[in-house]
Amino acid sequence: MSPLARSAPAATHEVTNQPPPLEGRDLFADNAPLREALGREGAGHAADRLHAAGRFWGGEPMAWGAQANEHPPVLHTHDRFGRRRDEVEFHPAWHELMAAGVRDGLHALPWTTDEPGAHVVRAALYQCAVQAEAGFGCPLTMTFAAVPALRAEPDVAAEWIPRLTHAGYDPELKAAADKPSALCGMAMTEKQGGSDVRANTTTATALADGGPGGEYELTGHKWFCSAPMCDLFLVLARTDEGVSCFALPRVLPDGTRNAGFHIQRLKDKLGNRSNASSEIELHGAWARMVGEPGRGVPTIIQMVNHTRLDCVIGAAGGMRAAVAQATWHAAHRRAFGARLADQPAMANVLADLAIEAEAAGVTAMRLARAYDEAADDREAELFKRLATAVAKYHVCKRVPGHAAEALECLGGNGYVEASGMPRLYREAPLGSIWEGSGNVMALDVLRAMRATPAVLDAFLAEVDEAGGADARLDAFTARLRERLADPTDLEHRARSVVEALALALQASLLVRHAPPAVADAFCAARLDGSGGLAYGTLPAGVATAAIVARHTPPAA
Ligand SMILES: Cc1cc2nc3c(=O)[nH]c(=O)nc-3n(C[C@H](O)[C@H](O)[C@H](O)COP(=O)(O)OP(=O)(O)OC[C@H]3O[C@@H](n4cnc5c(N)ncnc54)[C@H](O)[C@@H]3O)c2cc1C
Repeated sequence: MSPLARSAPAATHEVTNQPPPLEGRDLFADNAPLREALGREGAGHAADRLHAAGRFWGGEPMAWGAQANEHPPVLHTHDRFGRRRDEVEFHPAWHELMAAGVRDGLHALPWTTDEPGAHVVRAALYQCAVQAEAGFGCPLTMTFAAVPALRAEPDVAAEWIPRLTHAGYDPELKAAADKPSALCGMAMTEKQGGSDVRANTTTATALADGGPGGEYELTGHKWFCSAPMCDLFLVLARTDEGVSCFALPRVLPDGTRNAGFHIQRLKDKLGNRSNASSEIELHGAWARMVGEPGRGVPTIIQMVNHTRLDCVIGAAGGMRAAVAQATWHAAHRRAFGARLADQPAMANVLADLAIEAEAAGVTAMRLARAYDEAADDREAELFKRLATAVAKYHVCKRVPGHAAEALECLGGNGYVEASGMPRLYREAPLGSIWEGSGNVMALDVLRAMRATPAVLDAFLAEVDEAGGADARLDAFTARLRERLADPTDLEHRARSVVEALALALQASLLVRHAPPAVADAFCAARLDGSGGLAYGTLPAGVATAAIVARHTPPAA
């Protein structure tokens, strides 16, 4: 008998102490803060719809998200004969995600229903969907956000809003004038200036008389144009009167290609890889003016503000995804003789991540309600103006560190692609860059308070709803008022002032609406300086176990 035949095979592949896969969830049911917020913010009637969506997005779409990233979009600039094609090809998983997102109304819900609380319903749906994949949210967000801006031009609105709000999704690559549905993108950023769109050099030349609704030819470049397979784009370009806003279709009303629209290349991005972001050139591309000439920024700002709302909602969804993975892993993994979740240092990290995610979630849902109410409530409109900018700055700014720490909770597994954590991590910085980078948002808050002081009154009135409920919040708000009243070096202090506004709002919401353990931990760690720089530095006395239990997905 040979020596090899004598030895028994070594048992090296027994898998122990690994968590079971986190799958087959109802993403709405296992997100307690989101469930509670739905009714509180005026959309309790949609609970069944949210459970159905939660079960859906927690199932097969999780795999679609991974596939759509493993097979990123491919640009076809020309056909084999050398004619321009300017089409982007996507993996079928992307189209599945898009079709499901449209079915859920992520692209249009508030514009297609008279039911109350539509923005809140959509915000909750979005937070479920984005846990499967964030990239496809981009064209759905832009399509949703374009509608209020297009309303500035009744003719263009009448032509496009029915298509942008259509209930179906057409995965056909080619834009076509007779397609019932349509998607809308935006092109503002140029090489020499993104935040400062007044530096735009793209020009618009009137074909006839010009003016609002008039026909123009656009010539120039756009350095970032995401989702270039959209059917329509809102584009900023310069006329004699200044920067103006235009609606540029990929297909002309007669059904021919808008030949002056060229996709140069797709960006090779850090994350958001399922989505296509491109550079485009416009060579006399046909477009119609939306809004008044020279008033392009105030016109497109309607779109920008709604995309900023979605940055907050998306950030909250991303944080929830990270917390679910981290708490699940720690609940099922043992080290040094005990479950990770039961070990004090890990419980501190998990609880800290959880309160951040809960603060983001309640902020997103409260903000969404302001969008529901603003149409006929002046106070809501004022609150919405400031809270959008404050929340966009702070909530998005918190995501990258949060994703990194959640990833670390999974140890080495978290660094491995199949865990899904690297995808969350790569996506994390985007919300803070897009549609107003950190400084730009912080300065926007100062500008809003200067231009309309009543926005601050409305914001602080919301914070004061929790007045007297927590001494730490009362003291923090009093200090905040002093800092706001001091005009010295305000621009230098922009980030710290805006951060304080955000913390005051989040604490107020948590003190009023979250379980005492969550509100106490947040006030202790974020308001009075008792917390440290890293996650996992909640001060002593915080009820970490209760917080972690609230945020851990239940076993199926
Ligand atoms: C994945 C992705 C997709 C995108 N998709 C689109 C799209 O579809 N359409 C589109 O138009 N754009 C898009 N963008 C562009 C994006 O909106 C811009 O990159 C962003 O607005 C910043 O502009 P910028 O890159 O020119 O940076 P800059 O404006 O040069 O800013 C650089 C830095 O300077 C800071 N800064 C700017 N002004 C000031 C100031 N006054 N004081 C202090 N600091 C300041 C900014 O906060 C930033 O940190 C996309 C970007 C990314 C990453």
